[in-house]
Amino acid sequence: MSALTPDPHPSDCFYAEGELVGVLTTQPLDRVLDYKAPEGGCWQGAFVQVPFGPRRVLGVVWGRGRGDWDPSKVRQVQRVLDVAPMRLEMQSFLTRAGDYTLTPMNAMLRLATRAPGLGDPPSMRKVYRRGEGRPDRETDARRRVLDVLDEIGGLALTKGELADSAGVSSSVIDGLVKQGVVREEKSPRDTVFPHLEPGLGGKDLTESQAAAAAVLRRDIGSGNYGATLLRGVTGSGKTEVYLEAVAACLAQGRQALVLLPEIALTAEFLARVDARFGAQPAEWHSGVTMTERRRVWRMVGQGGAQMVVGARSALFLPFRDLGLIVVDEEHDTSYKQQDGVMYNARDMAVLRASINGAQVVLASATPSLESWANAEAGKYKRLDLTSRFGAAVLPEMRAIDMRSEKLPATRWISQALAAAVSDRIAKGEQSLLFLNRRGYAPVTLCRACGHQIGCDDCDARMVEHRFQKRLVCHQCGATKPVPTVCPSCGAEETLAAVGPGVERLAEEANALWPEARLAVLSSDLFGSARALKEGIEAIATGGADVIIGTQLVAKGHNFPLLTLVGVIDADLGLQGSDLRAAERTFQLMRQVAGRAGRAETPGLALLQTHQPEHPVIRAILAGEEEAFWRAEADERRVSGVPPYGRLAGVILSSTDVQEVFDLGNAMARQDGPLRAVGAQVFGPAPAPIARVRGRHRVRLLVKADKGVALQPALAAWAGQFTLKGQLRMAIDIDPQSFY
Ligand code: ADP
Ligand code: ZN
Repeated sequence: MSALTPDPHPSDCFYAEGELVGVLTTQPLDRVLDYKAPEGGCWQGAFVQVPFGPRRVLGVVWGRGRGDWDPSKVRQVQRVLDVAPMRLEMQSFLTRAGDYTLTPMNAMLRLATRAPGLGDPPSMRKVYRRGEGRPDRETDARRRVLDVLDEIGGLALTKGELADSAGVSSSVIDGLVKQGVVREEKSPRDTVFPHLEPGLGGKDLTESQAAAAAVLRRDIGSGNYGATLLRGVTGSGKTEVYLEAVAACLAQGRQALVLLPEIALTAEFLARVDARFGAQPAEWHSGVTMTERRRVWRMVGQGGAQMVVGARSALFLPFRDLGLIVVDEEHDTSYKQQDGVMYNARDMAVLRASINGAQVVLASATPSLESWANAEAGKYKRLDLTSRFGAAVLPEMRAIDMRSEKLPATRWISQALAAAVSDRIAKGEQSLLFLNRRGYAPVTLCRACGHQIGCDDCDARMVEHRFQKRLVCHQCGATKPVPTVCPSCGAEETLAAVGPGVERLAEEANALWPEARLAVLSSDLFGSARALKEGIEAIATGGADVIIGTQLVAKGHNFPLLTLVGVIDADLGLQGSDLRAAERTFQLMRQVAGRAGRAETPGLALLQTHQPEHPVIRAILAGEEEAFWRAEADERRVSGVPPYGRLAGVILSSTDVQEVFDLGNAMARQDGPLRAVGAQVFGPAPAPIARVRGRHRVRLLVKADKGVALQPALAAWAGQFTLKGQLRMAIDIDPQSFY
């Protein structure tokens, strides 16, 4: 369907000067453009700079030119960039990922080139290493500098690194340079990453860990594609096991990629890699500086980085020889990118591995139903780690029936839960109170007229954030001060907070345990990834008695002192019509409960619920995971939804509400291309959040049988309509979110 599928060509395809080549650029055009090969010729896959109107833009020689352009107007490639050419596998991955997600190829290329100045000549920086002799005067500071340099042997450091590690000011280094005792040199910025040594040997594995590791090692040894679901409760040693797979991959001289759902997790992981392989891997996520991004991108391409740890976009790095992709916490919803190119990194990891002859390992304590079903169907191998490492045992889980707790309307912590927390505080152990709601209160209501304060640009209530002293829209991020008079009726002092958020829960906890040290862990309360990481570390080492957290705490962090988890509202996720509501609740509750009792002390998880007999709550309490998945799978099979059927969401938006419904209705009527493959279209209906950032939103849902080639039909269907005026259309294949 894409006009860009490259012509079949040999991988060593060279174009002599003047030959026509097709260049894919990052410009918004859904076709390759013809250019003449530059002086000296160029290889297929070469990254090039080409003239585009008055500008120069980045492109990739995608294949032979099409020759359907006036030859006198065809311009020449200006320059071949000094980076490793794009490999055929990558061309094929981008094409197939683009076809799958219905994304134009220029947008795919942008994903694959997200490093600034990637073709610029290597920039230099000053570094310092040991020179000759001793300084004229041996001050303490000077001695420390020389000690550091002696300790690292022949290596060089930047001035900042050297000053930091020696604990001196940079003028001390300048003084030593003047005397030649320290040498200043220029070295390229884009340096090779330190060597990771796969042979160092890891921890002594338990029997079940060793068995799983042996299977993975053998699979890596095959050099072929294969997918494995590595399932194991939190703390069972999944990370230890997949690090063995990484070791096997590195030992083969191939590269490994580990995807983590959240950058706050990387610090802990990097330390483990360092301990296992003697150095840190390359990192790729939003917290990485631009110069470092460029270095990673280039080094990955030329083989100067053996391993990358990163966020989902690391999948689009130009690996020279990728042998293993690990998707840790594979069920995590953050793997689905919800805007721009709407791809699911877990699925794209499997695609990329299959193209590269690589192994993919999906690790989770609570796999997605998709992966569980793929393992059931034999498409993925399944490895299970059944017990926690060492003395740690899974926490006991109990429900607290909130129907019999007569709590006042502004209290959320039941007596039973409060007693358990008090007990832990007395014993010097940590408790976690989990509530998946940021801010102080989800609703601000006028007691006089009933008005609820909403966002001006979205159909969403504004959430009070008391730390920031503002109301915040969780859809668009708009904020405003908390008003003192009702914007609707003008009454004074009638506005009341309704319902709990973590900040309000902290208030209640503070009243209950005034002596205890409280820590609130919510993504909006930390200014940066580093602040968050430091906050988490401080808590993990005992900096708090009671942790109050959103789902941020559910994700893989280690809190060894934690022995009690209280879930404030276990029913929260069960509301709503999302087809994955049960699955998500199950996963989240198991993950959160898994935070308790990771070290020697057994844990307890208390779930406050108004519906203790709900099948999902019962499955959580009973720990009957297989039974839960089987029941959930049966339900989805009957209704023909994923993973047993296919869905695509269409989101139309416009500032003009009439325009957007007109298009929606036309699309529902002209459904011929969909009916041709037996797919059905539902809607249009106003989206659950019907207005975001001033744009009205309408959804259609397309449903098809599992075997149907849905994308070409969707493309033909959507292609019947032109988007006029303010209209936007986004097609979301395998939607995860239905807002
Ligand atoms: P998971 O990834 O399944 O949550 P981890 O690999 O993080 O589990 O293991 C949990 C904890 O137990 C970690 O601190 C890890 O270092 C430790 N651990 C796991 N297996 C072993 C082992 N065989 N020897 C020593 N420590 C281990
Ligand atoms: Zn808003």
